[in-house]
Amino acid sequence: MKRNKVVVIGGGAAGMMAAISAAGNGADVTLIERNEKLGKKIYITGKGRCNVTNNCDEDEFFNNIVSNPRFMYGAFYSFDNRSLMELLENNGLKLKVERGGRVFPESDHSYDVTDTLRAIMKRKGVKVRLNTTLKAIIIDAEKVRGIETMQHEKITADSVIMCTGGLSYSSTGSDGNGHKLLHELGHTLTDTKPALVPLTTKEEFYKDLQGLSLKNVRVNLFNEVLNSEKIRAVADGARLKKSIVFSGFGEMLFTHFGISGPLILSASSFYSKKVYGKQVTLLIDLKPALTVEQLDKRIVRDFDNAMNKSLKNALCGLLPSGIIDTIIVQSLLDAHKPVHDITKEERSRLVYTLKGLNMTVTGTRPFTEAIITQGGINVKEINPSTMESKLIPGMYIAGELMDVDALTGGFNLQVAWSSGYLAGMSAATKQGE
Ligand SMILES: Cc1cc2nc3c(=O)[nH]c(=O)nc-3n(C[C@H](O)[C@H](O)[C@H](O)COP(=O)(O)OP(=O)(O)OC[C@H]3O[C@@H](n4cnc5c(N)ncnc54)[C@H](O)[C@@H]3O)c2cc1C
Repeated sequence: MKRNKVVVIGGGAAGMMAAISAAGNGADVTLIERNEKLGKKIYITGKGRCNVTNNCDEDEFFNNIVSNPRFMYGAFYSFDNRSLMELLENNGLKLKVERGGRVFPESDHSYDVTDTLRAIMKRKGVKVRLNTTLKAIIIDAEKVRGIETMQHEKITADSVIMCTGGLSYSSTGSDGNGHKLLHELGHTLTDTKPALVPLTTKEEFYKDLQGLSLKNVRVNLFNEVLNSEKIRAVADGARLKKSIVFSGFGEMLFTHFGISGPLILSASSFYSKKVYGKQVTLLIDLKPALTVEQLDKRIVRDFDNAMNKSLKNALCGLLPSGIIDTIIVQSLLDAHKPVHDITKEERSRLVYTLKGLNMTVTGTRPFTEAIITQGGINVKEINPSTMESKLIPGMYIAGELMDVDALTGGFNLQVAWSSGYLAGMSAATKQGE
């Protein structure tokens, strides 16, 4: 029986999985990668530890996909997180599950993931061509016939699987050239925006706080700049359903340009999705476990115990020392005022600042600092049961190149593994016309 000839473009997560799956399903597979090595982006994932997937159930997986979760049903059911873990472990890579279901190699080395995938490809006979860059797709009679490389080589193929990635961290090789190429062939591109990315803010007090990390805070992000009445209402527990675009609890970080940390990265995906480019309010609740009334009582107690002390010194038990000055300034209070002279109205200002430290988000940091690209090849033009282009027979599309993005926790790599696997299997088993 004739073996389908499949060329995979890109040696990242999606491309390597597509090659493994296509070869495993009987195809003659060549993978081309422009870099001198495979998996440059995998290398930097999870701070060098690679959070390969998440050990969650299917509902949670889809809940963590920000753009086009339903499109991913077919891919996920054909190769889910359990299939990925099984594949890696059966090939000698021990895994461990950490907080929040995050799965890592037991070694804590991301390169072990790439090494394992490389070994599987080798065993399955995938021909890997490094330092080889796609130049053009050869299409004849509206069907894919092969590719041409920048190195002036033509490779014939029955199918081409495009896994060239998005626009984030272009130093790893993903610079959007796949978007351009597919657009020239008729595909449409939804707006591309950085996501899972630090945010910039109008207020400059972050400069005094750089390096400070806040744990167990709630962040609420809105689709407008809130007036002071609304900010107070949020502190008092109002949900503002029409305005809120993200609400999360966890850890954030102040940096030399604005705000970052896990909670802010998640907020950024909704900023990019819903209000990209707009100035909007972000409120940090530093004491989410307490209501305004409870917090006020706590402060009264602290002040009673700190008679004759200055406000600044009296707040030591309530707040990390690094943020006390900023909170006092934002509450329009005097740091040196003795606590017994603080009026009820002044205390109220303090309480409302703590329950809603107000920042105006002005935008995101650039793609070079984004974990993922939001937007990409329009998924309406990709068959979700095969990952084949609906416009060009024989062309398959997988990974970050598509308009699918997820939150942190191993979900973005799982999108790449699942879509790559389905594309590879479909390309290998496609019946010739
Ligand atoms: C700092 C950072 C940390 C991350 N951490 C995690 C994490 O822990 N867990 C998680 O789930 N996700 C994480 N992600 C996201 C995850 O890495 C990506 O979603 C995933 O790698 C996308 O895989 P891909 O194969 O689609 O694209 P890529 O990994 O970008 O691979 C695309 C490949 O195609 C090659 N290529 C491009 N154009 C051409 C061409 N013309 N010819 C030949 N080759 C070409 C590129 O060189 C590249 O190797 C992280 C991302 C970053 C930036």
